Amino acid sequence: MSYDNNNIFAKILRGEIPCFKVYEDDDTLAFMDIMPQADGHALVIPKHPAVTLLELPADKAAKTLQTVQKVMAAQKSELGAKGVVLMQLNGEAAGQTVPHLHFHLIPAHVSELKRHAGEQGDMDKIKALAEKIRAAL
Ligand code: 5GP
Repeated sequence: MSYDNNNIFAKILRGEIPCFKVYEDDDTLAFMDIMPQADGHALVIPKHPAVTLLELPADKAAKTLQTVQKVMAAQKSELGAKGVVLMQLNGEAAGQTVPHLHFHLIPAHVSELKRHAGEQGDMDKIKALAEKIRAAL
């Protein structure tokens, strides 16, 4: 699948639109989802321009999973999350709405998730949760 340089996460990576960042390194960025399916819902993305997991080179996939582990550990230690749902949608047919590969880290029970990309969350609350996660990273 060809990569659209103007997708919303490409714009976030270029700093053209803002995000509540929790972590960044040379290969990855982690930030809060603005339509959270539970409090503390974060996203981890590779900087590599991949639409789905199939387009991500294995070394970049390893780096991305390392960031997933870091953010998940922070959600557990800083937000008191007892469990974290890790979700990753590949292709529109699976429900993917943003065509830049991303991992959802949702600190909740899978049966309690709000609707996917349903409604915008409370920005003050999201900002406060981002600050807590970022503090551990
Ligand atoms: P997907 O459906 O592609 O798996 O997930 C895309 C996610 O991106 C959704 O959970 C949605 O709430 C989130 N999202 C959509 N637009 C934005 C945005 O502008 N900023 C942030 N931080 N998240 C977004």
